[in-house]
Formats: sequence, structure tokens, C-alpha cells
Amino acid sequence: MENQKTVVCPLCFTTVKWGARVCLGCQANIEYGAPTSRYWLALGASAYLGIFIGQYFSGLFLIIPFLIAFAAFAYLCYLIGEIYNDKAKFRRYR
Ligand SMILES: [Zn+2]
Repeated sequence: MENQKTVVCPLCFTTVKWGARVCLGCQANIEYGAPTSRYWLALGASAYLGIFIGQYFSGLFLIIPFLIAFAAFAYLCYLIGEIYNDKAKFRRYR
């Protein structure tokens, strides 16, 4: 049974085994998953949301915006993981 996942290099159209670090056709570096910058963006957006909601709470109730921000961040991380789950990025260095 052929169950080996592959990905096609957009630079040279060589079919590469999923998980390979380098393209066999053009030696491009292959990266998998979401770029770290996406997670920083999610963290920033969640923090902003928490601060924004935080204006309407005080004292012990500040735990509410904190929890909402935390939940938003967890959800965004989940979404990022889902979006980039099947993504491979080819980058050729000269
Ligand atoms: Zn290639």
C-alpha cells in the first residue's frame, strides 16, 4: 500500500518525500509548518484583545479578560496549526 506522503517542489516540480529537508531536484531547503511569526502575531492579537476587554473589568474580575485572551491565543494557535498542517515551504539559497 502506497501511503507515503509527498510534496511537489514549486521551483523545479520534483516530487519529494514529505519530511525531506532538501529538494532532490534543486537543493532548495524545505520548511514545514507555520512560521514562528504567525504565533507572535497571534500572541499580540490575544494580548491586545485582553487589554481591550480589560478596560471593562477591575480587581479580581481581571481574571476574565485574562482567560478570554488565553483562550483566544489557544484557539489561534490551533487555527494556525490547522492552516499550516499541510504546508511545506521551499526556499532556494543561491
Ligand atoms: Zn526543487
